[in-house]
Amino acid sequence: METCYHGGSLPESNLFVVAKDSVGHVGTGDKTKSQLKRENERAQKKSLGESVKNPDMNEEHRYTGRTTTELIKRTGEQPPKHANGKELCLIWHTKGECKEHCERKHSHCKLTDKEATAMKDYVNKNK
Ligand SMILES: [Zn+2]
Repeated sequence: METCYHGGSLPESNLFVVAKDSVGHVGTGDKTKSQLKRENERAQKKSLGESVKNPDMNEEHRYTGRTTTELIKRTGEQPPKHANGKELCLIWHTKGECKEHCERKHSHCKLTDKEATAMKDYVNKNK
């Protein structure tokens, strides 16, 4: 009885199910990948941590528009850099607050006079 059962229709229907499944998996696999990518990006944004206020916010540097990306587009120029060549955190200096794990966290500090002037000039290009 047992031999008959194993050699019979069951393995065949299993094969059929496996083949059908693997076709289905190709489609859903792609979707899952892009979904995972989106979830990853969302998680990365979250991992930037809590908002931190800039206690030395210079009102002359404030950008009242929506995003710093918009500011860069409107000025048509890349933002100024620190004296050591590192990028300034535009969000910190023009919005007055950023995230604690920002990738330009090194810039979450008071600007030197020279840097502050460059930043002021840059923001004023938008006006
Ligand atoms: Zn920042």
